[in-house]
Amino acid sequence: MSAFNEERVLSVHHWTDTLFTFTTTRDQSLRFSNGHFTMIGLRVNDKPLLRAYSIVSPNHDEHLEFLSIKVQDGPLTSRLQHIKVGDTVIVGRKPTGTLLVDYLLPGKRLYLLSTGTGLAPFMSIIRDPATYEQFEQVVLVHGVRQVNELAYQDLIVNELPKHEFLGEMISKQLLYYPTVTREAYRNTGRVTDLIESGKLMADLNLPALDPVEDRVMICGSPGMLKDLKRMLEERGFKEGNTVRQGDFVIERAFAEQ
Ligand SMILES: Cc1cc2nc3c(=O)[nH]c(=O)nc-3n(C[C@H](O)[C@H](O)[C@H](O)COP(=O)(O)OP(=O)(O)OC[C@H]3O[C@@H](n4cnc5c(N)ncnc54)[C@H](O)[C@@H]3O)c2cc1C
Repeated sequence: MSAFNEERVLSVHHWTDTLFTFTTTRDQSLRFSNGHFTMIGLRVNDKPLLRAYSIVSPNHDEHLEFLSIKVQDGPLTSRLQHIKVGDTVIVGRKPTGTLLVDYLLPGKRLYLLSTGTGLAPFMSIIRDPATYEQFEQVVLVHGVRQVNELAYQDLIVNELPKHEFLGEMISKQLLYYPTVTREAYRNTGRVTDLIESGKLMADLNLPALDPVEDRVMICGSPGMLKDLKRMLEERGFKEGNTVRQGDFVIERAFAEQ
């Protein structure tokens, strides 16, 4: 059996000239956990050209959704940004990753800290009822440069609280904190600075980060991951992974070349 499924593009939405979203059909045999990534791509000169992508859609959805950067000279995304409804995308059959609530010790509050396309795995996790069963509060932080890069904001703020099954949990338990670094906005500043200064917690009326009750997932640039990992370890948090539960888990939103 091939390691990949061929899926059909069902919709494409361009958020900005550097960011877009698309949905595809989903082979019924594809199983994944919310927070997983998989290899996806296009056939170029009859060979698969693949990159790692977090799955935005929750695993109970009939379709798959992805959030993508557009790197102008990027081997994959210089092409992928032009996909249209009806085109074929290759999707790996072995999703994997460390951003699973299963890899965290039990806790009271779950922080989901993201920058840029690092929001993608958390869009799946915030639509998983198990997340709200395991944690009293879920705090979704999304840092971007410009306001129009706050992908899915309308879905998070306006649609999910009215969702037929998840709406009540989301209204009561999800706190969303978008922050912008290069434009005026109601919240500004880098995620790292907002945590270091305590402003994030003060704005949300939450206590200081504490390994006794808080659990953290991080998905962002390699630099952001390094800084936040150090900050958490200084506060006594222990990193978890696929074989050992911890107080926090991390995943790169992309690799630096
Ligand atoms: C575990 C994992 C999960 C990922 N999930 C996603 C995802 O959900 N969405 C997504 O768009 N990308 C994601 N990526 C990055 C993705 O795999 C590719 O790097 C990206 O699609 C660009 O591919 P490319 O071939 O066009 O350029 P590449 O040659 O892969 O990248 C060129 C350069 O572009 C920059 N870059 C690449 N991806 C990003 C990004 N997402 N944000 C900012 N800068 C970037 C980096 O500096 C990189 O060196 C993920 C990467 C990893 C390791």
